[in-house]
Amino acid sequence: MRRPLVAGNWKMNKTVEQAALLVADLLPGLEAVRTVDRVLCPPFTSLMVVSGMLAGTEVGLGAQNMHWDESGAFTGEVSPLMIKEFCRYVIIGHSERRGYFGENDESVNLKIKSAIVNDLTPIVCVGESLEENESGKTDAVISRQVNLGLDGISKEAVGKIIVAYEPIWAIGTGKAASPQMANDIIGGVVRRNLAGLYTDEIAEKVRILYGGSVKGSNSAEFFSQPEIDGGLIGGASLKAEDFVQIVEAAA
Ligand code: PEP
Repeated sequence: MRRPLVAGNWKMNKTVEQAALLVADLLPGLEAVRTVDRVLCPPFTSLMVVSGMLAGTEVGLGAQNMHWDESGAFTGEVSPLMIKEFCRYVIIGHSERRGYFGENDESVNLKIKSAIVNDLTPIVCVGESLEENESGKTDAVISRQVNLGLDGISKEAVGKIIVAYEPIWAIGTGKAASPQMANDIIGGVVRRNLAGLYTDEIAEKVRILYGGSVKGSNSAEFFSQPEIDGGLIGGASLKAEDFVQIVEAAA
């Protein structure tokens, strides 16, 4: 039985003060749902303050990206050593990073390896664009992302990874995939590729989330699908009531 996980990706939203207010609003509701792993991913600037607020709770903290090197001349980047001072999780390969900042399968692979060496749990995002979806390339695109992203990662290490299937056309657009379609792609493409790279047994243990316009009102339908182990939530994670409702739906 895979334990559900719901992570809120705040993207480039909230100053430190606003982040603290949102965490204060969220915490009572999040702490009450003990059967779900709950993760908040605020911007880097708020990690320190939020980590202080989460101390002593079971709510985990994640970063939204990281560099693979531990230090060096990489202006503007944040290293795994810096992230692990505060976080247990790190989002890797989000489609906004792939689309706007040149993230590719090779850098995703380096980052996953670095996260594992540094004892961080990577939440690895995969997903197809609208054009790829409409031209029947969904399977090929996701298969490539899984195979190249996880290239060289051992069967012991893959147990530490969480995958998020996020169709790019559904992120921040209000157009969620249908729960059935998301379930079919997660089981039939993501998990099938994991089984090909490792074994059926290992693939069965990997938690795979759905992300893309999940809200309080549609979350229960997604999380009732057998292959969907929780969600990566963008916009709705910025509203305390909605996010708590989503976490409750995953329980
Ligand atoms: C995301 O940022 O990973 C995401 C799924 O965003 P949204 O929920 O806003 O579509």
